[in-house]
Amino acid sequence: MKEAIFVKPGLVEAQEVAKPKIQKDDDVIIHVVKACVCGSDLWAYRGLDDKPENSDNGGHEAIGIVEETGSAITTVKKGDFVIAPFTHGCGHCAACLAGFDGSCQSHDDNISSANQAEYIRFQHGDWALVKVPGQPSDYTPAMINSFLTLADVMPTGYHAARTANVQVGDTAVVIGDGAVGLCGVIAAKLRGAKQIIIMSRHEDRQKLALEFGATDVVAERGEAGEKAIMELTHGSGADAVLECVGSEQSNQTAVNVARPGAHIGRVGLPHGQGADAAQVFFNNVSISGGIASVTTYDKGVLLQAVLNGDINPGKVFTHEYNLDNINQAYQDMTDRKTIKAAVDVAPA
Ligand SMILES: [Zn+2]
Ligand SMILES: [Zn+2]
Repeated sequence: MKEAIFVKPGLVEAQEVAKPKIQKDDDVIIHVVKACVCGSDLWAYRGLDDKPENSDNGGHEAIGIVEETGSAITTVKKGDFVIAPFTHGCGHCAACLAGFDGSCQSHDDNISSANQAEYIRFQHGDWALVKVPGQPSDYTPAMINSFLTLADVMPTGYHAARTANVQVGDTAVVIGDGAVGLCGVIAAKLRGAKQIIIMSRHEDRQKLALEFGATDVVAERGEAGEKAIMELTHGSGADAVLECVGSEQSNQTAVNVARPGAHIGRVGLPHGQGADAAQVFFNNVSISGGIASVTTYDKGVLLQAVLNGDINPGKVFTHEYNLDNINQAYQDMTDRKTIKAAVDVAPA
């Protein structure tokens, strides 16, 4: 079968590899229909991680058809259409039971994450997989793309909004206009925020943010951006801040624009130092967030919202690729020519 291999920084390529096999009772082999490229995959591609050459590629987001199930699997069967959340929650540890399957305590081995492939071995399949009614052929391409976002990016945006404690009528600030930030806008709206301010410098992303429910766009960064947000909130600051970048500057901006007593939900993978701890203390700001509770949100809120047509997060996929031209997908995302790249593997 074909799988995307990380050849070296700047080069990802589909190569023939052995098809994965069931190794544990709660493994599921999935025939991938569609995968995609995550912003986090770009770190290695840009040479910023010390990922070994000629290794399994990243790519931890996919939807597909169940091909084979381990002996402990009772929730899905061969032929089912499923979303494959990157979090692989077991569903029964304290973290999963508390609704934090992104921090599952049963991950005793390396979770394999080479999802840009024709077949994948999915671990902790019994609880973590999310079954979609029917078959891919029952849905429009737009719906299929929205299901694909439920493997990571949409629940990650939702996690930012949940941990920022967005409530009905709130003013929310979304820092970051990548696919996660844009899904954060969708989530803030879904939770009832009245004013949603996105910090975004790119015209295509600003447009999508407004379509998703943003009420204001701030193009400036740093101090100028913070000043603009304080003006838009009449000097008060935001009730909720969704931090979807992970840099030192974005974390400090989150604290600077949070009103006293506000919550900050962080989902940007942290790079560099956090915000000024004394300022967080004196402003009574709560900082939460981390790895999203993908299965929890999909099963509880997001799958139904997509099926109802209430949200259309699949619009973050602005370009489509396949396994043979997957390097172009990485290059175009690196060059910001595409917001998020979808990879057709076995089109229905
Ligand atoms: Zn991801
Ligand atoms: Zn667990």
